[in-house]
Amino acid sequence: MSGLENCKPMNTWFKKLDTRPIVISGPSVVESEEQLLNTARELKKVDQVKIFRAGVWKPQTATKTFGDRGLDILQWLNQVKQETGLLTMVEVASPKHVEMCLRHNVDILWIGARTTSNPFSIQELASALQGMNVPVMIKNPLNPDINLWIGALEQINKAGISRMAAIHCGFYPFEQTSLRNIPKWEIPIELKSRFHNLPMICDPSHIAGDKQHIQQISQKALDLNMDGLMIESHFKPEEALSELEETLSPAELDEVLRGLVCRLNSI
Ligand code: PEP
Repeated sequence: MSGLENCKPMNTWFKKLDTRPIVISGPSVVESEEQLLNTARELKKVDQVKIFRAGVWKPQTATKTFGDRGLDILQWLNQVKQETGLLTMVEVASPKHVEMCLRHNVDILWIGARTTSNPFSIQELASALQGMNVPVMIKNPLNPDINLWIGALEQINKAGISRMAAIHCGFYPFEQTSLRNIPKWEIPIELKSRFHNLPMICDPSHIAGDKQHIQQISQKALDLNMDGLMIESHFKPEEALSELEETLSPAELDEVLRGLVCRLNSI
């Protein structure tokens, strides 16, 4: 029997999370103060967006690096919070990231797919989170291993974190497909059916890898009764330095959200 029964629904995490689906949006990677603030200001106009995501320490596949500007960015994020009232959310991959985010009042942390794939990293993060009162979302591992995902969720939960969610971002495809990641919807469906209390967020940006598929993947997630969507955006997507193909402008995001039909299904 797992301890994940004590997970709390997202609308109890913060007063602001009173809509469904919850929409999380923001840049893949923080490029500058101007990009961060302008994107947040535009997103503030999109009703359903409640959480502003930002890649501070960006895990890059290739040698391209955005450097370690963590401290500056965390200060800019505080400005975003004060100016827009959006909750802030940052990816953490090490105890140092956790400590810095908590010191700078980041509202929500997320653990990325590559980190979930490594149980040693999850153990270190669980130690750093022990006794901390912060919500944590955990992406699925790169490979379609539901037990690895559950193991990460349980370890973080055992550290005392009950405001938790799973993020489905699809799985690494070994062959070329029209989508960047294979959704394998049966995996989040099984997770949700085993842990009814665990909120489930879909990350259509990383499944799609291209903005043209985002609407259809988001609709599928809602049809499966997922609790929210995490979609990358940039105030000038054509100039985005990371994940340009899948990044929407806040206006495009608004259009996608308006086109979604919210049916009440259960999985
Ligand atoms: C991201 O969401 O920015 C991303 C690259 O995925 P991950 O969180 O898995 O690193």
